[in-house]
Amino acid sequence: MKTPNMIDAKKRHHNKIEYTKYNKDIAKFGNGKKFFVRTYGCQMNEHDSEKIRGMLLSAGFIPADDILDADIIILNTCAIRENAHDKVFGFLGVLKHMKQSKDLLVGICGCMAQEEVVIKDILNKYKQVDFVCGTHNLDNLLSIIKEQIDTKKRQIEVLSYEGDIVEDIPVLRDSPYSAWVDIIYGCDKFCTYCIVPYTRGMQRSRRHEEIVSEVEELVKKGYKEVTLLGQNVNAYGKDLYSDYTLANLLSDVADTGIERLRFVTSHPWDFTDEMVDIIAKRDNIMPYIHLPLQSGSNKILKLMNRRYTKEEYLKLYNQIREKVKDSSITTDIIVGFPGETEEDFEETLSVVNECKFDGAFTFAYSPRENTPAARMEDAILEEVKMDRLHRLNEIINKYSNEANQRLLNKTVKCLVTSLSDKDKNKVCGYTENMKLVNIVGDKSLIGKIVNVKITDAKSFSLDGEYIK
Ligand code: SAM
Ligand code: SF4
Repeated sequence: MKTPNMIDAKKRHHNKIEYTKYNKDIAKFGNGKKFFVRTYGCQMNEHDSEKIRGMLLSAGFIPADDILDADIIILNTCAIRENAHDKVFGFLGVLKHMKQSKDLLVGICGCMAQEEVVIKDILNKYKQVDFVCGTHNLDNLLSIIKEQIDTKKRQIEVLSYEGDIVEDIPVLRDSPYSAWVDIIYGCDKFCTYCIVPYTRGMQRSRRHEEIVSEVEELVKKGYKEVTLLGQNVNAYGKDLYSDYTLANLLSDVADTGIERLRFVTSHPWDFTDEMVDIIAKRDNIMPYIHLPLQSGSNKILKLMNRRYTKEEYLKLYNQIREKVKDSSITTDIIVGFPGETEEDFEETLSVVNECKFDGAFTFAYSPRENTPAARMEDAILEEVKMDRLHRLNEIINKYSNEANQRLLNKTVKCLVTSLSDKDKNKVCGYTENMKLVNIVGDKSLIGKIVNVKITDAKSFSLDGEYIK
């Protein structure tokens, strides 16, 4: 058994990263048994789940259409806020009942697996969990499962060191048109509220040749869109090269001819002029940027260790808006950080009123064990947090509605991704600006980039008609 420890998870040794290849030498022990993977959290977790499914498939397991048919269920978890924990622990209760009536293996992967407190709880209270695999050794998942099956003993293997970069892990992608591609793992920013630097380890970049060749393969397979992934994509290359940055990578990936290139998440501190220029220059780099603000108060930004001021954020924001034609910008904001006064919160509202974001993910601050903010004084009352969240959301929704209204009667390009859940005569797609459109049209449009005339605009989506 290997269990995590938050003191080791915080350490950074800057020369220990190994670049290795996935060990494909694994027995086909799945024997047609069915798997179900449930994902919580961010896009990085979505993509890790694609790897989990790919590895399971390579060992002879097959996907279950319904969770009730599964022989092995893996929860790929998120630790970013307490409610993410609650959801997983709640669902483990459901799985406990399922295990009473059938032979079922239950496993935990992802960020929660990296937390000392969670592993203690699993060891003491959640006997229904058969195996746990951490984020740094995901490539070893099949060995962990096989060991559990062979020995019938619970397996816990979580490492708290800077993970290696393992190439060629099998991937079962969710979409045949739009793909996630990792470019940088971990994070060294240590924002005081955030658990990611502990659960995902040191910031470490994939080699650019590997990234470009992965995208070239995707283009050959007919993929239309690629999203480059990392907790802080703008830091790409800093740990690996002296003169190769995200700007170079964006240019090289754009050269593969992929029709739509996106990237998430950006950190304002690492966003350079060259990056803005390349986004502005290349037609296949989509004019959509997710640029977390977190707070509009310099006092709170400093307490958060965000490394930029409100003024610097606004300068970058305006630079992007000026240079990148028809861009859309979304953000993340936390309310109720320790010490946030009504005046601090109003400063956040004032930045929101100035930026008029296309959309935002807004969060009430949630203390994470062992992070510096969890030890700060002046905690904000839950009802105050909720009141601020509500007031903020009203303004955010107003601007997102206005941004959508501006598209009314315009013709935009959409990548059609699926049938609409609600209406069989409609399909769904995304504009270049990452706006969701429900389009009158049939399933033959799925996988194509088509012209759509916008006929109605709401806060969270648009309606449109396919134009031949
Ligand atoms: N790396 C990205 C960045 O720097 O903005 C995003 C990381 S996190 C997966 C996504 C968002 O969750 C953050 O931008 C932040 O707004 C929010 N978040 C992180 N920790 C939080 C906490 N303890 N309480 C509330 N929200 C949190
Ligand atoms: Fe967390 Fe900050 Fe790193 Fe984003 S940049 S993952 S918020 S520590």
